[in-house]
Amino acid sequence: MNRRNRAGSFVLVFGAVCTHVLDTTGHGLQPAWACAWAALHFLVYPQVAFALARRAADPLRAEIHNLMLDSFLFGIWVAALAFPLWISFSMVACTLMNLSAFRGVRGLLQAVAAVMAGTTLGVVGWGLRFAPETAWPSTAFSMVGLLAFMLLFARDVYLRTLKLREASAQLSASESSLQQTNAALQQKLDEIHRLQHRLNEQATHDALTGLHNRHFLGNAFDKALARCRQDNLPLAVVLIDVDHFKQVNDVYGHLAGDEVLRQLARRLDSSARAPDVVCRYGGEEFLLLLVGMDLQGALSRSDALRQQVEHKGIDWESTVLHVTVSAGVALFPTHGTHPDALIQAADLALNRAKSLGRNRVMAAS
Ligand code: GH3
Ligand code: MG
Ligand code: MG
Repeated sequence: MNRRNRAGSFVLVFGAVCTHVLDTTGHGLQPAWACAWAALHFLVYPQVAFALARRAADPLRAEIHNLMLDSFLFGIWVAALAFPLWISFSMVACTLMNLSAFRGVRGLLQAVAAVMAGTTLGVVGWGLRFAPETAWPSTAFSMVGLLAFMLLFARDVYLRTLKLREASAQLSASESSLQQTNAALQQKLDEIHRLQHRLNEQATHDALTGLHNRHFLGNAFDKALARCRQDNLPLAVVLIDVDHFKQVNDVYGHLAGDEVLRQLARRLDSSARAPDVVCRYGGEEFLLLLVGMDLQGALSRSDALRQQVEHKGIDWESTVLHVTVSAGVALFPTHGTHPDALIQAADLALNRAKSLGRNRVMAAS
């Protein structure tokens, strides 16, 4: 961009300077020498400056140095030509605009300093003379040169603005597509969480009754025991089995049996306290962990449940099914200190309840 702007506008500056030195005598320069120097500076130097900037490790930095050199050399020309107003104005205006565009106020100040340094050198070399008039060809070159520079500059600004708008539109398009991808990912993540939750529910719950299952019990038993050990509390383990359940299936059908299990599970669950654990231990067996309950309390609670089952039948279609349950109760730490031992003790008590005629609750011995 700078090569084109510099080379283009310098041709017109060359025209302005040459017509001025050939037309006017007020500047006191040798026209031939002045034109030769002008050709060097305004026709050759722009190509050299471009080549130098292009080969530099940091082309932008090198170009800024070129711009400073432009300002400095213009300063020399302005003083050497004895401050012709139109030429000086065009040169100084171009160079100030250029450095301001690249470096803002800092660039403007640097350009002013470079112009002043060049002017001072020019005054030292050629003396302080003042011949502001320019003939019309030189004035016209200066005007057109300045105008050409400004138009080229405006075109660059316009093209850059277009590019910026395009980039900004692209950016907002990719931002909204990113947001969409994000939303889709979030949806997937929510779905995964829901599935994980469902899987966890399925892994720890019994599908028929909705109670916790045996898999869940392993962990819950350890936690309940740890808590009772720590707080020095008893823990009652109650194993409940439906009496002659096979007959229910045989007489009323498997679906009726399922409904018996569902309704019994609901009753056990609704009578449980917050720290208790209620789970379906096997086919028609349920296991309760009663945290902090002593043997007497566990026996009477189990017997209350047994009585409730005995007296309040199970609604099944248009009839009421009557079932009974037997239970065995073992206590931590009296009958064991580990889950397996406690369950085994409760199971033995349950077997005793069965062999003594069912529909009863027995304590482990
Ligand atoms: P007991 O008084 O000695 O416990 O006799 P029982 O008939 O209850 O015991 P048994 O072990 O002989 O039979 C248990 C029956 O429970 C056998 C099995 O078909 C049934 N059963 C196990 N799981 C389910 C279930 O999910 N649904 C239904 N409907 N029946 C089940
Ligand atoms: Mg059984
Ligand atoms: Mg049974």
